[in-house]
Amino acid sequence: MKKKGYMKKIILCMVLMFSLLLIGCNTSNEDSPNVESNGLKNGTFEGEGNGYIGPIKVEVTLEDGNIGEVVVVEHNETENIANAAINEIPSKIVEHQSVAVDSVTGATGTSKGIVEATTAALLSAGADEADISKAIERNQEEIIEELEADVVVVGAGGAGVSAAVTAAENGANVIVIEKTAIPGGTTAMGGGFFAADSEQARSMGHDPLDTDMIFDMWMGEMDWLADGSLVRQFLELSHTTADWMEERGIEFHKEAQAVQQTHAEGTNGYHKYDNFTQTSAQLGNMLDRIVEEYDASVYYQTPAIDLISEDGAIKGVIAQGNNGITYHIKADSIVLATGGFVGNSEMVSEALNGVTVNASGYNTNVGDGINMAINEGAATRSMQAMVLHTFNVDGGEFVEGDYEAMDIFQGTTSVAYMPIVPWLNGQGFRFANEDMVYDRALSTNALVAQGNYGWFLYNETLLNILENEGAGAAGMQDSIAMGPYPNITPLDTGWNHLTEIVEQMVDGGGVIKADTLEELAQETGMDETILLQTMARYNEDARNGVDTAFNKRTEHMFELSEGPYYAFKVTPNNLSTAGGIRINSNFQVVLDNPEVGYTPIPNLYAAGADAGGLYSDHYAHTIEGAAQGWAYNSGRLAGARAAENALNVQIDLFNE
Ligand SMILES: Cc1cc2nc3c(=O)[nH]c(=O)nc-3n(C[C@H](O)[C@H](O)[C@H](O)COP(=O)(O)OP(=O)(O)OC[C@H]3O[C@@H](n4cnc5c(N)ncnc54)[C@H](O)[C@@H]3O)c2cc1C
Repeated sequence: MKKKGYMKKIILCMVLMFSLLLIGCNTSNEDSPNVESNGLKNGTFEGEGNGYIGPIKVEVTLEDGNIGEVVVVEHNETENIANAAINEIPSKIVEHQSVAVDSVTGATGTSKGIVEATTAALLSAGADEADISKAIERNQEEIIEELEADVVVVGAGGAGVSAAVTAAENGANVIVIEKTAIPGGTTAMGGGFFAADSEQARSMGHDPLDTDMIFDMWMGEMDWLADGSLVRQFLELSHTTADWMEERGIEFHKEAQAVQQTHAEGTNGYHKYDNFTQTSAQLGNMLDRIVEEYDASVYYQTPAIDLISEDGAIKGVIAQGNNGITYHIKADSIVLATGGFVGNSEMVSEALNGVTVNASGYNTNVGDGINMAINEGAATRSMQAMVLHTFNVDGGEFVEGDYEAMDIFQGTTSVAYMPIVPWLNGQGFRFANEDMVYDRALSTNALVAQGNYGWFLYNETLLNILENEGAGAAGMQDSIAMGPYPNITPLDTGWNHLTEIVEQMVDGGGVIKADTLEELAQETGMDETILLQTMARYNEDARNGVDTAFNKRTEHMFELSEGPYYAFKVTPNNLSTAGGIRINSNFQVVLDNPEVGYTPIPNLYAAGADAGGLYSDHYAHTIEGAAQGWAYNSGRLAGARAAENALNVQIDLFNE
């Protein structure tokens, strides 16, 4: 377990990104500083800045008053994601002799950290801040480069890479354009994906899943408001997709059982990455292979900014390279796979009727593909369907001290994953059977259904029990696993320093503490009468051993009749949007003309989180790994249909 310093940086990274930590020192011989006319000393200087996860240290070598070299010597950033910034930002600083360089898209936290560290080093070398931050001269003239392809794929996440590889392997000349510096998108952040069958599953003695049964469950859960044809194609193709990916270098293993507890019997098709931090590189290898072996090219840091249309048909895409070149790419088919709009808070809130949700997904996915299609008249579908998943607790940023990472995690996160405390909405009504916390999708949906936040209520007695004995002593029956942590809510061992950590959150204003419920209502804004009624019933139910409101497990009804009370403000997280552009059974984007049956926009396709149709108004908890399963399978299918359109051929992925 890593020490607090590292963990705290993760919790605080957003806050810290805005506070310059300028520490610089000279590692050259201080006795004989070789000072140039511009005030800069020659030598090698160290500087430190705040990256996305933790401190970044650089060494800057100054020669003849110029920045000769910038080297990142220490960091805690996530490999792959940060690499582009670590390679690119130092050389840009040297090239322009300025720290006013653009961040690398998708690695802005790391980019800013390197710039901060370099600034610190330069200041310690005697630099003038204005000199080293001088604006970089940019070429004002627009350079346009014309390109042509059979198929253009916009976005290099799971859906885009699958589409590009499928199209290229079936003979299409493919161009992939990606907004950020690396492939993978949200897909490279996830744990695993659904597949109905695989060599690996069979080698473990698992039979192929009954996709007829899963189809019925799925469509039942969606009240048939999803597109049956798309759901069917996704499930059926998923019999082959895991093997297809493994053959192309994605490393994963079949999970023996589903992680989330409400996933139904007979639906475990969860294939988990062996090491999800490698997914980006492995998807990158898939692209490298089609560049080497087929007729394909990939442009990173080149976001699509518009579609080219002529007489109602899409003829290509315009993309903006970070090299200053605007690409006009003519193509017979265009696949939109830009990963939805999780990073666009306005669009998310509009889709959720005003409710705001933290984006814990890929924040550069801001709806580009969807908006470009809407501009061409496309219909949308189920925009409110989102992968609402996990909670966020206010106040973690106020915790300081030399604690173990898990101690901090328990105080700032595990407290939101306890079935033994009542969950109250903004008015003070209890809104759920808290036992649903064992399923992230259901519990997060329940919170979002209440608006922007909820209050999870503890008292001092309960916090003391957790600290001294563990959650089992307060009645909790099963612990909770999360991500890499097998047990975030220990039942039999005390939660070290819990009260100390919580008091810091109280002092910072993140957690509300009050001696009485009346006072708590006042502090939190809950309605006093409602809160008193809610808690009177809850406590009486706890004494009687029955939850008359929601029928929660009796053991989980912990009485909270004495203050001081602690109300933790809990907000929901959004991993990815899951509704988007309406597509037909051939993955073609369709016009918003229901009166004539949604006619296709010629040559335009969509896949992954850009494409709606798999869901009604919510993400399905029927199967685990559905979002990534959809990304890969819809990507393969959209890639095949796009290649068919471009090459005038037939591609049957189901009988390959
Ligand atoms: C932390 C986390 C964990 C998750 N875990 C799981 C899980 O275990 N299982 C699961 O099923 N789902 C999971 N999800 C959700 C799932 O990963 C996504 O829904 C899915 O991967 C989306 O795939 P995609 O290809 O549509 O989008 P992405 O993988 O996001 O790819 C979209 C790509 O398009 C690029 N792009 C955006 N705009 C442009 C533009 N204008 N021009 C060019 N390129 C552009 C982006 O940079 C990105 O690379 C998780 C999500 C998160 C955030």
